[in-house]
Amino acid sequence: MTNTSHDTDIVIAGGGLAGATLALALARCVPELRVTVVESFPLSADAVPESYQPSYDARSTALAWGSRLIFEQLGLWQRLSAHATPIRHIHVSDRGHFGATRLNAKDHQQEALGYVADNRWMGLCLMQELLETGVHWEAPAAVTGMDPLADGVEVFLGEGERADTNPRSLTAQCLVIADGGRSGLREQLGFRVNQQDYGQHALIANVSTSQSHQNTAYERFTDAGPMALLPNSPADQAETSSSLVWTLDGDTLDDLLARDTAEQCRRLQARFGWRLGRFTRIGECSHYPLTLQTVDESVRPGVVLVGNAAHTLHPVAGQGFNLALRGLMALVEQFRLAVTEDQPLGSLAVLNRYQARHRQDWKQTVQFSDSLIEIFGQSMPAVAAVRDMGLTGLDLLPGAKRWFGRQAMGLGGRRSQISPVGGAVHSGKESSSHD
Ligand SMILES: Cc1cc2nc3c(=O)[nH]c(=O)nc-3n(C[C@H](O)[C@H](O)[C@H](O)COP(=O)(O)OP(=O)(O)OC[C@H]3O[C@@H](n4cnc5c(N)ncnc54)[C@H](O)[C@@H]3O)c2cc1C
Repeated sequence: MTNTSHDTDIVIAGGGLAGATLALALARCVPELRVTVVESFPLSADAVPESYQPSYDARSTALAWGSRLIFEQLGLWQRLSAHATPIRHIHVSDRGHFGATRLNAKDHQQEALGYVADNRWMGLCLMQELLETGVHWEAPAAVTGMDPLADGVEVFLGEGERADTNPRSLTAQCLVIADGGRSGLREQLGFRVNQQDYGQHALIANVSTSQSHQNTAYERFTDAGPMALLPNSPADQAETSSSLVWTLDGDTLDDLLARDTAEQCRRLQARFGWRLGRFTRIGECSHYPLTLQTVDESVRPGVVLVGNAAHTLHPVAGQGFNLALRGLMALVEQFRLAVTEDQPLGSLAVLNRYQARHRQDWKQTVQFSDSLIEIFGQSMPAVAAVRDMGLTGLDLLPGAKRWFGRQAMGLGGRRSQISPVGGAVHSGKESSSHD
């Protein structure tokens, strides 16, 4: 139900990929709700400027096929697909060992297993769609805290990141915390976080190669850590580019960053091999420490954690945002039901139902992603031999391979039943994604 005694129905703290997507999904699927997004970074009305979002940096995201289906439902896919590169094949291999497995989209009767899109592009598309909705933005502003009320929450806001500049508050039925992996609000409210440090860093860069990627994503496990190369340009260009995610320990990372780009390419070549020909160029490198973070409970009366604030995964398996997206749709589904049944949005009954629906998916996805890293992070010969057998077996056993493929496509979990009010929003035109 909407509650006119509050300033708004839902406050979303954080307008990154998760927060902005949730706002769009609510505007499409539960349009009677009043939604306010509070974002620390400034907004621009016409475009997303270079400095707009830490979330929309030079990074790109591998979107699973299941995420495309969700974006189609939300009417975002047609815009997004203009600069999304299809992944038609996935090649998983273990450097220096014989095992390998290959997944092909046509074996799953789909045009692609997934897509690669720049975060900056996704942000721009989301903003442009959101500008046409009634979602209200408070930006630049930060959520600095909250107090529970009998029938909702009071959310405190400050200017930028400072609590003491222009302090004000909003009352709402529910606060959705989408402030990222280092969530200050999660900590402030005392949510228990399970943290596992992988002791590694992810180096991210765009790289060019002399041979076409042929729309293939490579996941390569080496004794020094896993790496992924995701196709990220039209396949028919003379020189195609791919997005690199390379996991390294701190010392190797520091050493690599101190080298010139020719030496960086040479070292990458030595690690990855020659499947894409020669590495001809490496773009600006950024890096992130790798941890697995999960919370036992993601809901409290009037409060729910989503996106990286709820779970931060190892990026090599490319599952973090895809999982977040399925969670957002599960939450929207419960908000829709609550409105239909005239229940308060922030009631534990509503939020627990969301948590129960999403829990199986996130447990399975976290396990899938973490076990890839655990199994492939081991350099002991016996473990390497078993995983070679595993990769070969996966390649030969249709049932196992199909399961692996469905996980990679983001189709392993339950799909939310929610649809936009008034039917699907997408125009149904052919997408124009990079080939
Ligand atoms: C290297 C790397 C590669 C990845 N690759 C993939 C991939 O291929 N596929 C995939 O599915 N996932 C991938 N992920 C995961 C994906 O990037 C994240 O799941 C996604 O960015 C989650 O976004 P978020 O909105 O939860 O958090 P963020 O992007 O961190 O956004 C949080 C937002 O909240 C704002 N904010 C913070 N505090 C406040 C506050 N108090 N008040 C108001 N606003 C606030 C911030 O300004 C920011 O805009 C990758 C992650 C990394 C690190």
